[in-house]
Amino acid sequence: MAVPLIDFSRQLEYLRRDLEKAIGYVIDHGRFILGPEVKRLEEEIAALCGCKHAIAVASGTDALMLALHAAGVGPGDEVIVPDFSFFATAGVVSRLGATPVFVDIEEDTYNLDPNLIEAAITDKTKVIMPVHLFGQMADMDPIMAIAEKHGLKVVEDAAQAIGSAYKNRAAGSIGAYGCFSFYPTKNLGAAGDAGIITTNSDENAELVRMLRVHGQSGKYEHSLVGYNSRLDTMQAAILLIKLPHLQKWSEQRIVNADRYDEAFAGVPNITIPAVKDYTTFHIYNQYTLASPKRTSILKGLDDAKIGYCVYYPIPFHKQPCFASLGYKPEELPVTSRAAEQVFSIPIYPELTAEEQEEVIATITRLANE
Ligand SMILES: *Cc1c(COP(=O)(O)O)cnc(C)c1O
Repeated sequence: MAVPLIDFSRQLEYLRRDLEKAIGYVIDHGRFILGPEVKRLEEEIAALCGCKHAIAVASGTDALMLALHAAGVGPGDEVIVPDFSFFATAGVVSRLGATPVFVDIEEDTYNLDPNLIEAAITDKTKVIMPVHLFGQMADMDPIMAIAEKHGLKVVEDAAQAIGSAYKNRAAGSIGAYGCFSFYPTKNLGAAGDAGIITTNSDENAELVRMLRVHGQSGKYEHSLVGYNSRLDTMQAAILLIKLPHLQKWSEQRIVNADRYDEAFAGVPNITIPAVKDYTTFHIYNQYTLASPKRTSILKGLDDAKIGYCVYYPIPFHKQPCFASLGYKPEELPVTSRAAEQVFSIPIYPELTAEEQEEVIATITRLANE
């Protein structure tokens, strides 16, 4: 039995009619950019994240870019990021003319290691940007304490973590800004690119709202140079149809993760993902195993037609575009090993029990070979 890594068509079966209706409304009212659905989405996401404001933008990458810009990051500044994340986390820092500073991760969660942050702070550091990787939040209390001690801002890359919680606090509600992506593979996925920024500060929200429309402060008046990063109304309409399902979907991912955890617990050469005591809600955007035998396991999964993906095979410090920063692999040993060992397997809510049994049986056999 072939098992895809992800299958969007299974959601469409029960969402199609509502989606088509919602798209029809937008075509009828014709307010295609920042229309009424965008405003409603912003209100609902702000409520979900326990934040005063949410500002919808064109993508998760833009959310990071605008948040860092609003936090004052520019040429000559440094931003601390984990070495292990999707490219956008580091890419946006460079695009603002600043320098990303790569810090190693925790062995068990793959998130930024708070114990290594202070050694990376210099007088150029402006922001610490933890990533809530795979849907589990980074250890925010020590990160916030370090930021406060050194007068730095924290921007949360919560692209993979919508609805997740740390000590009962929602992703996106702890740092100065939270940045979310609605890329189709995220737990709440649009039918294209979309993103949103959360904040509890009126002032921060105002600034991001201006940046999203060319820094416009009044009609054709620009108090700063901004971006064109407005969300399409069509995407907001689609997200509003999906949003009421999000909690149930994430809970089903947890059910699937628990089954995997139990099945893989005693399997040799397989490390299951850690869930920390501080994690109130892990949304499992990915379920990520690690194995020293990854090469042969992935070959076996190919043969068995079971979907997987390696998030992420190349740490930032090994990316050709960051070669000039001069990092040595031995400076970032945990990330280097993770990049060689991790692989993510099907976890989406519509995965059937039979499919999951197939994945479990195949990986268990391959790990024992
Ligand atoms: C998906 C993702 C982004 C970028 O979001 P896009 O909507 O694809 O631009 C940024 N950071 C992380 C960790 C992501 O997973």
